[in-house]
Amino acid sequence: MSTTRDYYEILGVSKDSTEAEIKKAYRKLAMKYHPDKNKEPGAEEKFKEISEAYAVLSDAEKREQYDRFGHAGIDSRYSQEDIFRNADFRGFEDLEDILGGIFGGAFGGFGGFRGRQTQRRGPVRGSDLRYDMTITLEQAAKGSETTINVPRAERCDVCGGTGAKPGTSPKTCPNCHGTGQVTHARNTPFGRFMSTTTCNVCHGTGEIIEEPCAACRGTGKQKKVRKISVKIPRGADNGMRLKINGEGEDGSPGAPSGDLYVVIHVEPHKLFERVGDDILYELPITFSQAALGAEVMVPTLHGKVKMSIKPGTQTHSILRLKGKGMPYLHGSGQGDQLVRVIVRTPTRLTEDQKELFRKLDLPDEGKNPRSTKSGKGIFEKVKEAFDQ
Ligand SMILES: [Zn+2]
Ligand SMILES: [Zn+2]
Repeated sequence: MSTTRDYYEILGVSKDSTEAEIKKAYRKLAMKYHPDKNKEPGAEEKFKEISEAYAVLSDAEKREQYDRFGHAGIDSRYSQEDIFRNADFRGFEDLEDILGGIFGGAFGGFGGFRGRQTQRRGPVRGSDLRYDMTITLEQAAKGSETTINVPRAERCDVCGGTGAKPGTSPKTCPNCHGTGQVTHARNTPFGRFMSTTTCNVCHGTGEIIEEPCAACRGTGKQKKVRKISVKIPRGADNGMRLKINGEGEDGSPGAPSGDLYVVIHVEPHKLFERVGDDILYELPITFSQAALGAEVMVPTLHGKVKMSIKPGTQTHSILRLKGKGMPYLHGSGQGDQLVRVIVRTPTRLTEDQKELFRKLDLPDEGKNPRSTKSGKGIFEKVKEAFDQ
């Protein structure tokens, strides 16, 4: 896949050209053979070729290897993927997608640019941020839009994120020549050993700032509190994560910002318990309401609704209010409200009331309809189903 043509020739530069000259030559050619702009046959091949030449010549170590041993020196040491792995494509961010599309794995779907950022210089994507947000069950049911204050690091607007005083620019680190890494050679009786470590002068950035920007003290970042609008969808649930693209911390110049993740916490409710899309509610009723039946008003997340209790309702029965639960997060419609009826046994009775209960104490009451074979009532069955 590698080209056999001379890399310097491909880029049209001389053997002693500087890093800046190589970069400039590549930019010019990349624009010309850009597969999006140039539809001529062979343009893509040409684009690949110049990108490969640039990847090698822009990397001090690979360039040296090439200068000494030519293509053999590159081919014997680097796979096609390796050639691009540590290539410095800073300033060519607009080409990233195309390069990724053409070379695919070599960039690991953008990974080629990102992967090296931790250890070597290059644009660094901003960090992702997490924001924990507590909402009420009502807010979760109705959905809401709210503004949050997010403290985050933003690119310094005085120096544009370079960290260098306006009018100056960061210098290439003299210790590592901008590679961010230093190779040490050690001679031992067994031979010469090479080890590569992060440059301790520039700490791997490849650049040093001689005159730091006063506003950010050379960090290129400023702490700011940003107001960000968050849309909570109807039916939002506990632990839900809302991703807000690009609202994390700013990256270094030329790199994308991180993302903001808003994690939803739904407060426990005084009256309601949420079970999936359904709402459980306990309704205390009197003995006579249970025995004779009644019409009662029941609170729901959607306002009060009328519910009828049939005569002879047993305690712990579950009555269903269709469509009065949580809205489905996906699709239309909503869950139900399950009303668990609790029959309150009176505790303070007058003598007259006691006499009435004695008259009511009918012998057939022993045949409790709830005493099914399993001995379990409806609510226990429902609860069991939910607990599974
Ligand atoms: Zn600054
Ligand atoms: Zn350095």
